[in-house]
Amino acid sequence: MSDKEKLYEGKAKILYKGSRPNTIIQYFKDDATAFNNVKKGTIAGKGIINNKITELVMTRLGQIGIATHFIERLSDREQLCHAVQIIPLEVIVRNTVAGTMAKKFGIEEGTRLSRPIIEFSLKDDALGDPIIPENHILALEITTDEEMIEILETTAKINDFLRGLFAGIGLELIDFKLEYGRFNGEDGEQYLVLADEFSPDNCRLWDFETREKMDKDRFRRDLGGEVEAYQEVARRLGISLETEDK
Ligand code: 5GP
Repeated sequence: MSDKEKLYEGKAKILYKGSRPNTIIQYFKDDATAFNNVKKGTIAGKGIINNKITELVMTRLGQIGIATHFIERLSDREQLCHAVQIIPLEVIVRNTVAGTMAKKFGIEEGTRLSRPIIEFSLKDDALGDPIIPENHILALEITTDEEMIEILETTAKINDFLRGLFAGIGLELIDFKLEYGRFNGEDGEQYLVLADEFSPDNCRLWDFETREKMDKDRFRRDLGGEVEAYQEVARRLGISLETEDK
């Protein structure tokens, strides 16, 4: 890895400059953090699993016409992506009440919502990623009106598709977090693309029958079995975890 130029190191990933112009490499680490970095640990093999789950999800979304930053997986832990300007928002989708929503409103986790919710947090660790309403986002010019419309439409499409994908392997997609970026096309136009990752690190997945948690909540809540849960999600998606790195 040492020959690559490091651009940024985050909690779960490192970004390097890609070999082609306007590309980056996402390197997936085993490090896990929760509660804004207060809880730290590792989940053995998580980086490999999340790299491969993200590859599968981004590829399938590409096949239904969703523009993403993903180009190709390079190795067990690395994927090549288009360089984008990340919009500093966490786009959160909820199908079933859990996590902060359950706590905030005192509603039992697992209560299914009558319709999905899309909400936003400002991506700012120092402020603790505060929830930000749509009118604030527009007034602060974090996105344009057109971008906001596209984010809402694209996110709804992604939710419909992914709920079906996971339901097909016996998993309920409770909620998840997306990030979008602005990509400068070769035609000089700027496009909104799905960026970052999609993995059990940034979604909640419950087994439909047992309602067992199969995601990062196992780590956040000290439930144990996080390695096995991540492996099981990969296995159900048909992903091989055989190492390809020599
Ligand atoms: P909650 O609001 O309950 O903390 O999170 C809702 C969903 O968004 C969960 O699936 C959670 O994993 C994801 N999420 C929210 N904030 C973050 C974040 O800062 N990082 C990651 N990886 N996921 C997040």
